[in-house]
Amino acid sequence: MTKPSRNPDRPAILGGTPVRPEGPPDWPLDDPAVHEALERCAADGTWGKYHGPYCDRLVDALKEMHGCDHARLCSSGTVAVELALRGLKVGPGDEVVLAAYDFKGNFANVLAVGAIPVLVDVRPDNWQFDADQLQDALSEKTKAILVSHLHGGIVDMPWVHEIARRSNLPVIEDACQMPGARVHGEIAGRWGDASVLSFGGSKLLTAGRGGALLTHEPELLQRVRLYSHRGNEAYPLSELQAAILLPQVEALSVRNQKRAENVVLLRELLGEDSGLTMFRNPSPTECSAPLLSLKKGISHDPRPVRNEFRTTITQPGYYKLGFQYDPAAFAGLSRDDFAAAMRAEGIALDPGFRALHLIHGKRRFRTVGDLPVATDADAGVLTLHHPVLLEDAAAMRQIAAAVAKMRAFAGELSSARPS
Ligand SMILES: *Cc1c(COP(=O)(O)O)cnc(C)c1O
Repeated sequence: MTKPSRNPDRPAILGGTPVRPEGPPDWPLDDPAVHEALERCAADGTWGKYHGPYCDRLVDALKEMHGCDHARLCSSGTVAVELALRGLKVGPGDEVVLAAYDFKGNFANVLAVGAIPVLVDVRPDNWQFDADQLQDALSEKTKAILVSHLHGGIVDMPWVHEIARRSNLPVIEDACQMPGARVHGEIAGRWGDASVLSFGGSKLLTAGRGGALLTHEPELLQRVRLYSHRGNEAYPLSELQAAILLPQVEALSVRNQKRAENVVLLRELLGEDSGLTMFRNPSPTECSAPLLSLKKGISHDPRPVRNEFRTTITQPGYYKLGFQYDPAAFAGLSRDDFAAAMRAEGIALDPGFRALHLIHGKRRFRTVGDLPVATDADAGVLTLHHPVLLEDAAAMRQIAAAVAKMRAFAGELSSARPS
């Protein structure tokens, strides 16, 4: 018996050959430096001890990298956000402003401390927190502003910072998706009064679990210390986790550079009208804040940073590479069916987050307006998982080839899988 030959030009989901039969690359990387760190922990016994040198070294590395006074390690990015809220004394009856399109855990954390989420819309060009709407979100009860850079987009931090300063409100910057990225000349995580990182199992710096809180404020740090220290650490990161994170921090800027180069290549390969539009990050000169600062003689006063991360103005990070999906370019094929067809090709493309106002009871939050753009983002975000972005140019060509297949067979795909 001969196997029926599969047509390489047909989408795999319609019986053709996948462009990446081996599937998406695995994560975490098989990294010799991590093996070495693990062996060192086995040899020196720190794998089983409460204390050792690695957590302290990681704290120092994070402080150096971010140019911040304090870094506190903890058990996850989600916990880091809660600790930031508690460190800022956010509590019952207070309001916290965040984007209506954001990580679900951030909304849950605001509720966890007893506060009320106030949702603002996202920008049409990059589906990130719309700083132009921040002023309208503020009330007597506002206690903090929580912003996340998501899917390769960046939030207009100078403008957020400016509005926050004028109202004397603290900012929490969620940099979980882009450690080492640069946002308007500063490393991501440097714009917040408190900033958070995640070391979760899929993240760019990974220890399976883990997180960190960065701040300049000694009092905030002290409150977080008191809250998490209960005779013992309630939300610890272990020595073993810190040991395997250290070499990853060292390799981060080189890997970020590689990912960024692949994103540039993929953008070229896809072209302007592929039906998948990458988020457009406004350049600093397009932001309202620097112009306003010049006019009023106000500066955002960032402290100087000494390291290699401060080499260009803006360089997003790519934990997920986000796209705005246009079903019209694919004969009306739904976003979810498109993602399923791409996954059948061996490409790790998935729908993004659900918008927060669409998955929570209306009594739990307040909004600024009807959030039409976040509603679009709910239906239209696609994200490409990052491991493939460390591969070679051929991998980018495979992604573009898979998208081209979807285009060529869009009619058949959308009638084969009515949604
Ligand atoms: C992953 C993530 C978190 C939470 O991190 P965990 O370590 O998984 O708890 C928070 N915010 C954003 C934007 C994330 O992507």
